[in-house]
Amino acid sequence: MANIFTCLLFSWLVFFVFFPYNKSMIKVEKKVLLKPFTTLKIGSTADFFTLVQTETELREALKWARAKQQKIFILGAGSNILLTKPFRGLVIKNEIKGWRIIKKTPTFALVEATSGEAWSHLVNFTVQNNLFGLENLFLIPGTIGAAPVQNIGAYGVELKDVFVSLRALDLKTGREKIFSAVACRFGYRDSIFKNKYHGRYFILSIICKLSLRPQFKLAYGTIREELKAAGVKKPTAGDMIRIISKLRSSKLPNLALLPNAGSFFKNPVILESQFKKLQFRFPEIKSFPDQPNKVKIPAAWLIEQAGFKGKKFGSVGMYEKQALVLVNYGGATANEALKLVSRIQTVVKKKFGIKLEPEVNII
Ligand SMILES: Cc1cc2nc3c(=O)[nH]c(=O)nc-3n(C[C@H](O)[C@H](O)[C@H](O)COP(=O)(O)OP(=O)(O)OC[C@H]3O[C@@H](n4cnc5c(N)ncnc54)[C@H](O)[C@@H]3O)c2cc1C
Repeated sequence: MANIFTCLLFSWLVFFVFFPYNKSMIKVEKKVLLKPFTTLKIGSTADFFTLVQTETELREALKWARAKQQKIFILGAGSNILLTKPFRGLVIKNEIKGWRIIKKTPTFALVEATSGEAWSHLVNFTVQNNLFGLENLFLIPGTIGAAPVQNIGAYGVELKDVFVSLRALDLKTGREKIFSAVACRFGYRDSIFKNKYHGRYFILSIICKLSLRPQFKLAYGTIREELKAAGVKKPTAGDMIRIISKLRSSKLPNLALLPNAGSFFKNPVILESQFKKLQFRFPEIKSFPDQPNKVKIPAAWLIEQAGFKGKKFGSVGMYEKQALVLVNYGGATANEALKLVSRIQTVVKKKFGIKLEPEVNII
């Protein structure tokens, strides 16, 4: 009898103490090649690597890194990074997925999306459910969690236009914090997470406010002309994503065939006075209005004028249909990419007096 009792007690102990722990235990791998986890297909190894699918696993990974005194790098879909050296620490690949509508009124809905979810899945969901605001951001690769880091934008819309707040975990203190749009300090492909809080917070989820009435932004580029050519007078969300998709595929290489990280450089913003001088020397120079007294110059135009469009340098080059996109023709190294980046910056600076800043995170 005493034996049966001991046996039962032991199995209960095994179930309640060990089983839940084993179930959520993370797997940390050593010396993992990071190249396959990036869209540029360039990258060396991480000393340690783990994939997390829940917040509990994330907290375990952070605990592991703290105990082993390892630095952390948060990896989303790897579509905005150029990895230049081995990472001496723990890479946490974020796959914490999901989204839900948290509030619906007659005019708007609040949608919360989790950071490891694909951005494109959220956009598809909103388009299919008549929640308006994200159409122009259709087909941007990457995860929800990285979207606020560079305030993703395309065709005249930026994340900040629909953003309400985000929830993040402070990697220093382990505490959660809510950031409002103002606290995120969004700018052009910029936020506080690229500057003051670079590497400090793990973004857990974001909340976006989407309209229940169509409010499309048509002013950018050739959206209006495309709609006109297609005979569309009153566009639907479906029309919008068809046009955005057409525009994107005409400019951007197919990731499966030509690895890249999207636009490699930001469009420089310069003073109107500097622009006027440049316009005198280069009458065909293009520009968009920006902040008061400032204009934005398309970096693609500068790179093309500097002679890099469609040019190949070993295994890297600038894409033939869009000079802003650095492509890997196969087997490229970080050194080759860095050399080309620096060469472009030097020539553009010499010819136009403008410093091109990378949009891609060089790590
Ligand atoms: C073909 C192509 C087209 C693109 N088009 C556009 C475009 O139109 N507009 C645009 O804005 N961008 C564009 N991009 C860039 C890219 O898609 C976005 O920047 C995207 O948000 C990156 O997401 P990611 O998950 O791949 O981030 P990653 O590349 O994995 O990470 C980028 C940075 O964010 C940090 N990070 C990632 N997740 C988190 C998190 N949860 N918390 C805190 N930090 C985090 C990383 O540590 C890293 O510093 C394009 C890229 C490609 C390849």
